[in-house]
Amino acid sequence: MKNLYNETLKSLEKHLVGAGFKAFNARQVFNWIYRHKETDFDKMLNLSIKLRAYLKGTFCLEQLELFHKQVASDQTKKYLFKLADDHLIEAVLMQHDYGKSLCVTTQVGCNIGCSFCASGLEKKVRNLTVAEMVMQIVGVEAVEAERVSHIVIMGTGEPFDNYDNVMGFIDIANCPHGFEIGARHITVSTSGIVPKIDAFAERKTQVNLAISLHAPNDQVRSKLMKINDVYPIDALLDSVRRYVDKTNRRVTFEYILLSGVNDQISHANALSDKIRGINAYVNLIRYNPVLEFHYRPSKEDDAQAFHQQLLKRGINATLRKERGSDIDAACGQLRTKVKNKGNTL
Ligand code: SAH
Ligand code: SF4
Repeated sequence: MKNLYNETLKSLEKHLVGAGFKAFNARQVFNWIYRHKETDFDKMLNLSIKLRAYLKGTFCLEQLELFHKQVASDQTKKYLFKLADDHLIEAVLMQHDYGKSLCVTTQVGCNIGCSFCASGLEKKVRNLTVAEMVMQIVGVEAVEAERVSHIVIMGTGEPFDNYDNVMGFIDIANCPHGFEIGARHITVSTSGIVPKIDAFAERKTQVNLAISLHAPNDQVRSKLMKINDVYPIDALLDSVRRYVDKTNRRVTFEYILLSGVNDQISHANALSDKIRGINAYVNLIRYNPVLEFHYRPSKEDDAQAFHQQLLKRGINATLRKERGSDIDAACGQLRTKVKNKGNTL
């Protein structure tokens, strides 16, 4: 049986038309599952009995099992979901004044293996399906009885290493008959898979693109991110320039401040020279320490000085407040902890 949450509106239309139904039936089904959150085909009363029987015989609407939930002092909530094959994935819900933003996981483990990231501690086991990403929103909205208004695709995994499924997921999140989350309220973050940045540019959507840069040059970046040996910083920045040219959208550069590694004034100067002229802003991130690694977050004075130096040199930059560190909110941390204890808490 296929999981109905795997279908985009287009693929469901095609499927239903192929089975002798009408294209508008797909919109009706989407309204039931995403607007009314209905999981029982028998209750979709405006569908013909024949269509309901067909859906029941062809599709299921399985849900993820909520394995654990943690709430931080700032109301950041972390959910650990169990997949059908027992793998655990996490999603994090952040409370903002503009709404609720869900950080979605795209893979079990991550092959990029950045040297500071808990998610990279385990090699990729497999990609998540479209349904497994969709069900993270469905699951959180069901637990909280509230609407998720923003999506950040920044949980465990490299979204552009699971490109087609992530694009299917974005289609459903954005679809007016689906979750109806505006494209500008969706952000996808990549470690810098150049061919996929080019493919993403071709889609010409309003979805936000964030690039995990974390360094001003190849020497520092290759130490932090092995992917830099495949797509060095200049090739990456060229693809970002092409993306901005094609889409007219501003990109975000993610930059984790690591004490003594990439947080000195010389790094700020090198960074500003490197990215000058690109329509972008730099999001300076405080590092959430990971037990297994020796990296430490920058001292507050260094973080402030780095931020000020970028501003002084005409680079747009923000220094975020830390979120949810008391609940292991950094990507992959809760999951790693649970796994190390043999899937118990
Ligand atoms: N794989 C994608 C998206 C998931 S990671 C990527 O790398 O962009 C999302 C963001 O969290 C990335 O910018 C990543 O560098 C950052 N991150 C990972 N571990 C972190 C930690 N311990 N503290 C703070 N940010 C972290
Ligand atoms: Fe993977 Fe992103 Fe973590 Fe790097 S930072 S290991 S790409 S999840």
